[in-house]
Amino acid sequence: RKPVIAIDGYSSTGKSSISKIIAKKLGLIHLDTGALYRGITYFALQNCLRDDKSVDTDALFSCLEKLNLEFKEVDGNLELYLNGKDISKEIRTPEVSDYVSFIAKQPEVRGFLLQTQRSIAANGGIIMDGRDIGTTILPDADYKFFLTASVDERTRRRHRELTEMGEITDELSVKENLIKRDKIDSEREISPLKQAADAILIDNTLINKEQTIALILSYIKP
Ligand code: C5P
Repeated sequence: RKPVIAIDGYSSTGKSSISKIIAKKLGLIHLDTGALYRGITYFALQNCLRDDKSVDTDALFSCLEKLNLEFKEVDGNLELYLNGKDISKEIRTPEVSDYVSFIAKQPEVRGFLLQTQRSIAANGGIIMDGRDIGTTILPDADYKFFLTASVDERTRRRHRELTEMGEITDELSVKENLIKRDKIDSEREISPLKQAADAILIDNTLINKEQTIALILSYIKP
């Protein structure tokens, strides 16, 4: 039987890119759950705000009923489609990053995505990365890891990634966004960002992606 693996941790610790490679190596499906929250946020920013860009939470929830998020499996990865359109690039903008933790703390949003995520994992053979996979979404996962790194190292990685995507940002605003998101994510009432009691903690400040992957794989029984 193929394993179910939960990878949680702070923003920009490399969770998704690491999970993607591990999925390939072990023949698992990979789901980046942050993409789901980002997809909802992208839709809300376009369709569910007042003209002055402020939020009316009641209007937000009825507006979200028009949202149709779908996945297509591309090469072992579940890619996110919104109302038929591939939005994998659009969900990475600073505007979405700035707003996503506010959307992600809404109970209705988390309740809706809980079922979505569990049904995707129902057949096993999956690696899911996020903030509450080990604690809430898949508490019975076969393996749980929690990734952390210093905020300066995470800022450098995220800034490099954004620059490679062609986004013009400075390190300070990237750092502020990481700190802000981690704070909102850790302090929210429903399924906050938290290491599961039975998760293995990995601090990858001083090790690179390949070394982090090797470390995780060293725990997985053949
Ligand atoms: O992983 P990523 O940085 O793309 O996640 C974006 C945001 O989505 C997080 O900052 C958090 O607010 C939310 N999120 C969450 N629970 C998850 C995954 C992401 O609340 N399992």
